[in-house]
Amino acid sequence: MWRASVLTIFPEMFPGPLGTSLAGKALATGVWSLDAVDIRDFAADKHKSVDDTPAGGGPGMVMKADVLARAIDATATDARPRLLLSPRGAPLDQGWVEELAYGAGVVLVCGRFEGVDERIIAARGLEEVSVGDYVLSGGEIAAMAVIDACVRLLPGVMGAAASGAEESFSDGLLEYPHYTRPQLFEGRPIPEILTSGDHGKIAAWRRSEAERLTQERRPDLWANRQSEGRPKPKDAK
Ligand code: SAH
Repeated sequence: MWRASVLTIFPEMFPGPLGTSLAGKALATGVWSLDAVDIRDFAADKHKSVDDTPAGGGPGMVMKADVLARAIDATATDARPRLLLSPRGAPLDQGWVEELAYGAGVVLVCGRFEGVDERIIAARGLEEVSVGDYVLSGGEIAAMAVIDACVRLLPGVMGAAASGAEESFSDGLLEYPHYTRPQLFEGRPIPEILTSGDHGKIAAWRRSEAERLTQERRPDLWANRQSEGRPKPKDAK
């Protein structure tokens, strides 16, 4: 079973959206497991503090390394990768997601406030992962994104297994456009080729649309693809 452990000061946020739809069904049927560990349970003082003022001054609070260390030591007793959600981290991409999904699971440490004491990162071998170039108020929603992206790749989770193979990023390309009935929507027809029944032509059209969209919207992906043939999972890190 693929196991996700999330270290957070808001365990009540989980499973949250991960309890519904495909991920929720797979959670209920034991394809994967989730344990939300309350970091506060590992606080040592009577106020259960998990954070303290930043050394050197400045605004906000910093999550304490000693408290985090105890929470991690109690949870990450196996070889699963330990990730710290962080806007400073390597950007999460589909290759990295695949690597995580094919492994035993993941331990995710959610920051809050200004972030965590820097020393915990090296002390517990945390890999920093970012879900994008913007700042969230905490790591929980980012952790949910990581888990959701992994869980949908687990065997038996997605109904049509084939739908994983052709989607965005699978070949270093964005996905081609989709259409469904009605044939005419507000004066806009479905591209004729898709209703032609010619599967060779349809595949070629989809390929060229995927290439066109990637060139137009994501020159970075396109360039990476041209130079490397195929994107490598950890290139970005
Ligand atoms: N002061 C920090 C931001 C802290 S935001 C800075 O300027 O870099 C609080 C927490 O939210 C972070 O510790 C991290 O766990 C989480 N977080 C915020 N943005 C994120 C992102 N883009 N990806 C992953 N985690 C993020």
